[in-house]
Amino acid sequence: MNTLEIKNLNVSIDGQAILKDFSLTIPKGEVHALMGPNGTGKSTLAKVMAGHEDYTVESGEILLDGENILGKEADEISHAGLFLAFQYPMEIPGVSIANFIRAARQARLPEGEDINAVEYYKELYAKMDSLKMDRKFTARSLNEGFSGGEKKRCEILQMAMLDPKYCVMDETDSGLDIDALRIVSEGVNHMRSEERGFLVITHYQRLLDYIVPDVVHVMYDGRIVHSGDKELAKELESKGYDWVKEEFAGAS
Ligand code: ADP
Ligand code: MG
Ligand code: MG
Repeated sequence: MNTLEIKNLNVSIDGQAILKDFSLTIPKGEVHALMGPNGTGKSTLAKVMAGHEDYTVESGEILLDGENILGKEADEISHAGLFLAFQYPMEIPGVSIANFIRAARQARLPEGEDINAVEYYKELYAKMDSLKMDRKFTARSLNEGFSGGEKKRCEILQMAMLDPKYCVMDETDSGLDIDALRIVSEGVNHMRSEERGFLVITHYQRLLDYIVPDVVHVMYDGRIVHSGDKELAKELESKGYDWVKEEFAGAS
């Protein structure tokens, strides 16, 4: 059961169906890319996985190594081993990056157990070194006044420190500049392992030049309509999404 498995997920918002019997399985050790035209439900999927409350889950399951995480609170989902990175991370003035990550780590410990500060900083600095980050960075308030690249750096550091089993990154329509693109892709590539699975959501093929996916899925109208290898992403880049729409319109 070393998989993140989304099974027959049906999700609506204000009575309108968005995800339609959506299924996807990501084994540990693999990077899956989810692509598709705007408005197809990619971000909805990521938000539902994060425990966002605006959406109505009609049916389905999201199994993280066999444990259903649907309906759990965001912190429980994180605790279960899922990390979700979003295009617009929250700003928390007055809370340093170091303390924010420390609180997230503390929340995972059993009642009454405290983080060893010396060991925590040792690990934090070691991770920062391996990600080539300046140590001064951790003293800054979370995302406050950050450039796009700094936000991404902060996100990757959080991801590295939380050591999740699965990472979902919604970079859709983000227009990441080249600096941010490099930071995200180096961070993800650095964290690729047999022990971890990734779902990289992107509207554009560009990110996938840097994070080479094992599997590419094309989503349309709330479900996956095509899966293939990295060449599928290149095909989409040259042909666009119209053929997916046409094919789909013909089928339904
Ligand atoms: P994508 O990320 O693929 O561009 P989204 O998941 O953002 O697609 O949106 C899918 C559909 O759901 C769109 O039609 C969008 O308008 C609708 N939708 C998403 N979130 C909301 C919301 N909070 N309220 C109303 N409609 C929404
Ligand atoms: Mg969109
Ligand atoms: Mg989106």
